[in-house]
Amino acid sequence: MIHRRCVGIGGNNKQPVVDQIMSVQKTYTIRCPKCQHSQSVELYHSINVTQQPELKSALFENRLNRVHCESCDAGFRIDKPLFYHDSSRGILIHWMPATVASREEILEEFETGIELLRRSLPQDVEPPSVRLVFTRTELVELIFILEAGMDERVVEYIKYVIHSQNLQRVPPATKQLLLNVQDSTADELLFVVQNAATFELEDILRYPRSAYHATRKLYRDNPGELLNLLPGPYISARSVLLDELAGEEDE
Ligand SMILES: [Zn+2]
Repeated sequence: MIHRRCVGIGGNNKQPVVDQIMSVQKTYTIRCPKCQHSQSVELYHSINVTQQPELKSALFENRLNRVHCESCDAGFRIDKPLFYHDSSRGILIHWMPATVASREEILEEFETGIELLRRSLPQDVEPPSVRLVFTRTELVELIFILEAGMDERVVEYIKYVIHSQNLQRVPPATKQLLLNVQDSTADELLFVVQNAATFELEDILRYPRSAYHATRKLYRDNPGELLNLLPGPYISARSVLLDELAGEEDE
């Protein structure tokens, strides 16, 4: 139904790469999940929220890439690969829904895309840092984290610690931690516990912000350890923990 796309942000002209990403819509034929009616719709392939802030609101309010069936009136969201670009803040995130392909395939394709991009650039131009997420929730969470000037790897490290120390209350197999930046305070970070299967928000956990600052300082002084634990481009404590647990079961 929807084509998979590579990280298509290359180009051979001399413009800074990041400036090339504009909001782009493409036409897709979509079948209504309720009545099977097929129709042509325009869906966003990329959004530049500096140029079109209304698209950021649409994303946050879950209105982006929503389709209204002209036959039965049903409304539904199409999850497709999307580039989120905030050029004024230098934020570039690729949302690759894992419904399109397996996470392994997505990661492979992502790495290939970045490598192609690197090769297409002049040697003295650094490719932009592109972050990868698999769900809309992760995308919105990451945007808040980056806009707050926080380091997402340090945030994930804190989630790693919380999961590890509370395996009964937040087992990574079934629960996902999300940082609620807006409701966090100067003293405490507020994490929401989301049920990984139903996506319902079930619990709230608080963690001292001082621990975040201490970890960030440690990471700046000695980045290797955290980079090893949480390599990119998909930085996720839960995914690391699930891999660790799967490894233990294999042994
Ligand atoms: Zn329909």
